[in-house]
Amino acid sequence: MPDDSDDPTGVPDSVDDTPIISCERCGREWDLAYELDEMAVGNQAVQQFALDHHRHTGHFPDGVETWQAVCRHCPEEIQRLESSAARRWAETHARHTTHSVSLVDTDGETTVVDPPG
Ligand SMILES: [Zn+2]
Ligand SMILES: [Zn+2]
Repeated sequence: MPDDSDDPTGVPDSVDDTPIISCERCGREWDLAYELDEMAVGNQAVQQFALDHHRHTGHFPDGVETWQAVCRHCPEEIQRLESSAARRWAETHARHTTHSVSLVDTDGETTVVDPPG
């Protein structure tokens, strides 16, 4: 990729430029003035919004790259912003259920986490 800028997210880092997030599932969009003003989360406003949206609706808004862990044996699956959190879920699910779990990164690459032993 020719993109060697140090802004991989494309999210403006100026607070004058309030980011807008949309969600296809909700059919809505939000500006992040609340996150920026009330919660003072600054450049993490998008991530904070995504986490809050997930907590309250069970899904992430558009344009948020997530890691997925999908069990190959039961309907359990999760999405996480952090690879470490997705991997931890996959490993604990495998450990407790002896199920194999597919771990899907933000590029769609899949690795399988097998239960230990
Ligand atoms: Zn939504
Ligand atoms: Zn399972």
